Amino acid sequence: MHTHTDPNQNSNVPMPEIVFTGCEVLAAARAKTQAQARPAAKKKARSKPAGRRIVKVGGRRVKTIDVHAHCVIPETLALCGRSLEDQRGPGIDEVGARRIREMDEQGIDMEALSINPFWYRTERDLAAEVVRIQNEKLAEFCATYPDRFVAFASVALQYPDLAVQQLVDGVKRLGLRGAAVGASVAGEEFSDPKFHPFWAKAQELGVLIFIHPQSTPDLANRLRGNGWLANTIGNPLDTTIALSHLIFEGTLDRFPKLKICSAHGGGFLPSYAPRSDNCLRVAPDMDTGVKLKKKPTEYLRDMYYDTLVFTSEALRHLAAEVGSNRLVIGTDHPIPWQSKSVDHILKAPGFSAKERRMMLGETAAKLLGIDPVVR
Ligand SMILES: [Zn+2]
Repeated sequence: MHTHTDPNQNSNVPMPEIVFTGCEVLAAARAKTQAQARPAAKKKARSKPAGRRIVKVGGRRVKTIDVHAHCVIPETLALCGRSLEDQRGPGIDEVGARRIREMDEQGIDMEALSINPFWYRTERDLAAEVVRIQNEKLAEFCATYPDRFVAFASVALQYPDLAVQQLVDGVKRLGLRGAAVGASVAGEEFSDPKFHPFWAKAQELGVLIFIHPQSTPDLANRLRGNGWLANTIGNPLDTTIALSHLIFEGTLDRFPKLKICSAHGGGFLPSYAPRSDNCLRVAPDMDTGVKLKKKPTEYLRDMYYDTLVFTSEALRHLAAEVGSNRLVIGTDHPIPWQSKSVDHILKAPGFSAKERRMMLGETAAKLLGIDPVVR
């Protein structure tokens, strides 16, 4: 267990008075669904419930899709000796009324749920059990609210052969839309050949892999002190290192159709991308012999990123480096990094209506196999 690496850890968050178990959440969710299914109210309740913000661009309704939304299953936290109090985010254990109300306020039609990996250092049987429980629960949540949630499978990436099975099972049997992973696996880089079978299977299935960093525990000593630097800097750095290895070690050349989406706008990499195109010119002695098919920065345009970059200027620059067709909403819900993800895209100057619609939901709909039309 490496609790110090969890960016969501916060012992200062007050505990809710009542902690719902997964089953209680599900029971409440089912009760709510049944209540909504009264024939006369059914259609109206589904298309425009009270309090739900409806997002339009150029007069056209857009189904807004958030690829970066967290949840936890208390049962699997407990299996790994963790507890809900260590998790940041009010209501992170709930996939139900509260979450949907908050989505409605922000104007988020659908969330793609993911669970941050905390099982990469556990032994095989336990990792298998954690993933089994989580993926079945995620599938239940999605089945309960099919017009509000899809989910990424959890995978035990430290056992790549098992992770391949879990990905196939999650996608084919449970209807999950891809997998959520960290940005390294217990100290090993995603570019390590041991992970090739996993990337190969993800490419074959054509499903999205959502990279969410887990800080940089190797730097824990330097990230102490004020500013929550293990997260503030540690998380975007973790993503930056992961993507740089995938580029420079030729992993993205080996799996050119692999669909990767990184949280937090890809971390620091798109902010300072051109340095990657100049490093081996300056220091040819640092070239290990990996022959890349493209300039390093060109690979940035082959991947996807969420829009959790806070300002219009940051969004403009991210789009300039990777392409607006590579951007999808990321809210980090229910962790309160921001509450204006939709306005962030609607109000940023310089984008066409088509680009805004793509960022708000059309691109994510394609990646996640979601009907882009609100019905
Ligand atoms: Zn997050």
